[in-house]
Amino acid sequence: MKRLFRGLRRAPDPCYDAVVIGSGIGGLITANLLARDGARVLLVEQHYMAGGYCSTFRRGGFTFDAATHFYPLLGNPETLTGALLADLGVETGWVKMDPVDTFHLPDGSRFEVPADLAAYLAKLHAEFPQERAALDAFFAEVREAYLLGLLEHFRGRETGRLAPYRDLTVRQALDRRFADRRLKLLLTADCAHWGSPPGRTSFVFDSMLRLSYFLGNYYPKGGSQAFADELARCFEERGGHILMSTAARRIVVEGGAAGARRSGGAKPGVARGVVLETLRGPVRFQGTVACGAVVSNADLLGTLEGLVGAEHLPPGIVQRLRGLRPTFPCWLTHIGLSGVPAEVLERAQGYHWDSWDMDGVGRDALRFKLFVPTLYEPAMAPPGGQVLIVQKVLEMDCAAVTDWPEHKRRVESFVLGHLARMIPGIEERIVVRTSASAQTAWRFTLNHQGAMLGWEMSPEQLGAGRPDLASPVRNLFFAGHWVKPGGGITPVIVSAQHAAQAVAGAMACREWPPRPAQSRPWPAGPAGAAAAAEAVEEARGGPGPGRGPSAERGAPRARGGRIA
Ligand SMILES: Cc1cc2nc3c(=O)[nH]c(=O)nc-3n(C[C@H](O)[C@H](O)[C@H](O)COP(=O)(O)OP(=O)(O)OC[C@H]3O[C@@H](n4cnc5c(N)ncnc54)[C@H](O)[C@@H]3O)c2cc1C
Repeated sequence: MKRLFRGLRRAPDPCYDAVVIGSGIGGLITANLLARDGARVLLVEQHYMAGGYCSTFRRGGFTFDAATHFYPLLGNPETLTGALLADLGVETGWVKMDPVDTFHLPDGSRFEVPADLAAYLAKLHAEFPQERAALDAFFAEVREAYLLGLLEHFRGRETGRLAPYRDLTVRQALDRRFADRRLKLLLTADCAHWGSPPGRTSFVFDSMLRLSYFLGNYYPKGGSQAFADELARCFEERGGHILMSTAARRIVVEGGAAGARRSGGAKPGVARGVVLETLRGPVRFQGTVACGAVVSNADLLGTLEGLVGAEHLPPGIVQRLRGLRPTFPCWLTHIGLSGVPAEVLERAQGYHWDSWDMDGVGRDALRFKLFVPTLYEPAMAPPGGQVLIVQKVLEMDCAAVTDWPEHKRRVESFVLGHLARMIPGIEERIVVRTSASAQTAWRFTLNHQGAMLGWEMSPEQLGAGRPDLASPVRNLFFAGHWVKPGGGITPVIVSAQHAAQAVAGAMACREWPPRPAQSRPWPAGPAGAAAAAEAVEEARGGPGPGRGPSAERGAPRARGGRIA
């Protein structure tokens, strides 16, 4: 696929209003919103593809989504997020999914979730007539939690009416209404997409996603990369600069020393610029770019520990973050097939449960989920071909894995063994196959432990329990799944909107514009080159991108309309 944006083919300017670190959807939306409002913005991405978890890769003529493939709401301009994309001029085409999901249950039964809410409820009533009243009461709660959750988590308006639901997990909400284990599993059989078990997932957040599906769940035409690249194109069209294959090595902070703060003397530090290093490609840049604000879309711990440094942070902040629980990583096997009829794959698609124990989702209860993008976008495969993606969330201790190749062999053989039994003869139809572990997710996106959606969306890790988009360093903000409101594409877009508003607020203050004197661009001549290289070397102290597997072993830790 031809890339829709150019990327900067020269060194960046000495000074910007804002530098955005990371081109995940959070970074791309923030950059677009800032540029739309007239800011001069540099977006830097350490990878050679834009999109973070919303990207694709090619093998043997097949195009595979690296991670994300469900894009709720985005193709519906009647919703807030759909309208935002239209407002930004995003021209991505969207294919609506119907059914939204398919569940294969341990008793061999199969249940399709239709894209229409009334049809879904009618189906549940028909299958569980004795539970009709309980189902109606449950969905009344889901609807209330959904509306109040939007108000509190997306609009930032705390409401006491959410109190009965705020601390509730999905499992608790199901247990207090239903006894039938089949019905309970049916109502949460897609829970793997939270990267956490229903016993630890917020009922409010789950309700927000559950009902949003019925406003449209979409797959992007051309795959995930087409969407990310289109956002990058829109940003460039607004005058934004994108520096690909370039890692942020350090955020330049003035003041805010932890020791001085403890004695009550110092003001908070202020972000003044970013030290950058281009890792590959024709542009060679090592140096510091000055800016008025920094927005980090990168891993939050990586940003604070590696890019800011403890000396600029209040004591204890990193330890507090380490006490939060990240979401599970997700194993992926990407398969390019030839000559397998679409009906066979359509039938096999969905979540395959081997046990009724919903909280065993990351262990052996959920075998895996199968997704076939070519059923929505045939262009992802050569003629006659199909793409099959196997996703398996894994409750695992990354730090305990000493032999990643062995881990990969083990999970791959589990996946392929099951596929061979489910679709006889599939082995002979495989044209290409590749697998990605937690380590792969970390290597490409630097999300620690390969976490799927940042911190777990448990009740205590949302709202006041989730890191804010404003940081302890002035003019440093965060956007993405590690901060409020939470993980997944829609919440990440909301976080980007909030981050852009915060930067706009900072820009309105009297210290703006940033001081170009702070800038140390890649200067001409050997002396300048040495100075810039020194800045980068200094900045390499923290856990940086591009390190090998041994570094990774150390990094991940054991635990861890309008919309309504
Ligand atoms: C397998 C899988 C399936 C998923 N499926 C879905 C789904 O179907 N629907 C859904 O809504 N959500 C899904 N999610 C979750 C969703 O993809 C994420 O929550 C979301 O994409 C995160 O976006 P983000 O903007 O926070 O950052 P990320 O996508 O994590 O991107 C961060 C970016 O920052 C860059 N970066 C990091 N450090 C630096 C640095 N120092 N310098 C420069 N760049 C840096 C990284 O390279 C990366 O590009 C899935 C996740 C996974 C892993």
